[in-house]
Amino acid sequence: MNGNDSTPLLKKQKVAAHEDSQSDAEFDFPEYMTSNVNHSAQQDTLYLDTIHRPLLDFDFEKVCSVTLSNTNVYCCLVCGKYFSGRSRTSPSYTHSLENNHHVFINLHNEKYYVLPENYEITSYSALKSLRDINNFLNPKYTKSDIENLPVTARDLDHKSYDVGYVGLNNISANDYSNVVIQALSHIVPIRNWYLSLSHRQDLNARLESMSPLNYNFGILVRKLWSKYLYRNHVSPHEFLQYLSSTTKNQFSITRQSTPKKLLVWLLNNLHLQLSKSIKKSSTVLSDNLRGRIKVTSMEVHTKEVNDKVEFETDENSAKESVSSFWVLTLDLISSPLFMDVTKIQEVALTKLLQKYDGKQTSQVSSSELRTYKLIAPLPRYLIFHIDRGLEKDGSTRGNPTVVQFSTTIDMAPYTEGADQSLNYKLLSTIKRQSTEGVKLDHSDDKNNWAISLRRTDDSWVCIKDLEFNACEGGLLFLEENYLQIWERC
Ligand SMILES: [Zn+2]
Repeated sequence: MNGNDSTPLLKKQKVAAHEDSQSDAEFDFPEYMTSNVNHSAQQDTLYLDTIHRPLLDFDFEKVCSVTLSNTNVYCCLVCGKYFSGRSRTSPSYTHSLENNHHVFINLHNEKYYVLPENYEITSYSALKSLRDINNFLNPKYTKSDIENLPVTARDLDHKSYDVGYVGLNNISANDYSNVVIQALSHIVPIRNWYLSLSHRQDLNARLESMSPLNYNFGILVRKLWSKYLYRNHVSPHEFLQYLSSTTKNQFSITRQSTPKKLLVWLLNNLHLQLSKSIKKSSTVLSDNLRGRIKVTSMEVHTKEVNDKVEFETDENSAKESVSSFWVLTLDLISSPLFMDVTKIQEVALTKLLQKYDGKQTSQVSSSELRTYKLIAPLPRYLIFHIDRGLEKDGSTRGNPTVVQFSTTIDMAPYTEGADQSLNYKLLSTIKRQSTEGVKLDHSDDKNNWAISLRRTDDSWVCIKDLEFNACEGGLLFLEENYLQIWERC
């Protein structure tokens, strides 16, 4: 069909414009054409075999490839390109005529249309044959789907992939954010909450308007755990695009940052915005990840004794306060000046955790010492940040000390009010893969960050952007671990 002979057909077709309220203003079909003229079920299936699924990709920002408009955007299911509108002056309409491409999906309401005839596909059999496209665009989960997530599924080429363990594209320099997205979306209660948004439509719609951060993060989590993927990877592009614009490029796709900075920012902002949207002070994030800590601060005085400076703590000045935390920082003792560069130092995780035993003092300034102790009950998940000095401006190398740990630890010695052991098991660890001068400010240093995740059968998988490798849980300590999530067991 071409542009000339499409006009008579147009007049015969029902125009389903009422479904597409955003387009009403630009919809220029005359009134009589929107009257109730039915199209047949046969017509519905007319062009379905022209759909080319390998070209479909819904992970990108939903903007028209011609006008860059983000309202009323359709995807041409023949070539995969995005165009806005359905009116006779719209890019979709022109594309349909010029390229002889006829089947489009509205990316917002997921309805299918045939252009240039401009009717909605409504027959049951046609919609059934298109359901995989809806699932690919926007995976949905019922309660029972969430409780019974499959272990494997098949992609478009019928190759098996592990559901939930799929790669994330590194578009330019976003491996630092890929590992954070993987880490958060593998914390089961958090994952399940974001999956459940697909059947809590009112809440999801509220988040779309009140907290696009939570809304977009939810879409990404639902794609990561989808059993309907066409390929065994997902692009975080749309979420990261939003992140970059909302943080004014503090977290960008093209410039490295550190996973810890992003994780803390995300936890704070996801939680605060969610809390505001649901009008509750606690959220699925704070319920599972946020703990309380007692900080005792003491003054330090210096005095000179026989030409030497001595420090004296003033116990009477001790002040206690309680604050909350998302992440516990563990300090590596570094003395780069004297460090033997040929030998990498080693330290036990339990030694680093003594910072929180309520006795070991940490000097926060020349006049202040602090002790820390966690307060029971601890959250179900604990996040440790092994501070390698990467968060300091201009730091490139970082402290490469090896931190030894076993895969379970007892947190009771660091917790006030713990009357029995509090065992935690390692769930995931984000590590730096390259120890050669990591350039935090350059976009050309891809693939520095990777994550190892423990699966439900206790096997481990390491994901670095799109690469996967099975790994040995008992040997993880040999790597440059940097952020760890531990799960109560
Ligand atoms: Zn097309």
